[in-house]
Amino acid sequence: MPLTHATELDVQVVSRQLGRPARDIVAIAARCVCGNPLVVQTKPRLADGTPFPTLYYLTHPAATAAISTLEASGLKEVWSFMYSPVARPVRFRAAPAKKRI
Ligand SMILES: [Zn+2]
Repeated sequence: MPLTHATELDVQVVSRQLGRPARDIVAIAARCVCGNPLVVQTKPRLADGTPFPTLYYLTHPAATAAISTLEASGLKEVWSFMYSPVARPVRFRAAPAKKRI
C-alpha cells in the first residue's frame, strides 16, 4: 500500500486514537476501510531529538487491541522464535505437506 500524505485531519484523528498529541508523522502507511489512519510512518528522531526507532506505528484502537490480544497469547514469542536463526532449520522442516483431495 502506498504512503499517503498526512493531512491536518489525519493528525487530529491519530491524536484522538492515541489519546495524546500525535508527533512527527511523516505519512499514513495504511488506512482503515473508513479512511481513518491505521498505521502511520514516523520520523527516526522526534522533533526534540529523541530517537524513535519505530518506523511504522499502529494507531487504530481496534487494531492495537487485537494485536495486544495476540501478543498476550504468546504469539509474539512464537514468531520471534520461528524467525530467529536458531529456528531456521526447524522452520523449513516443520511445514507439513498439504494433503491433496
Ligand atoms: Zn475505521
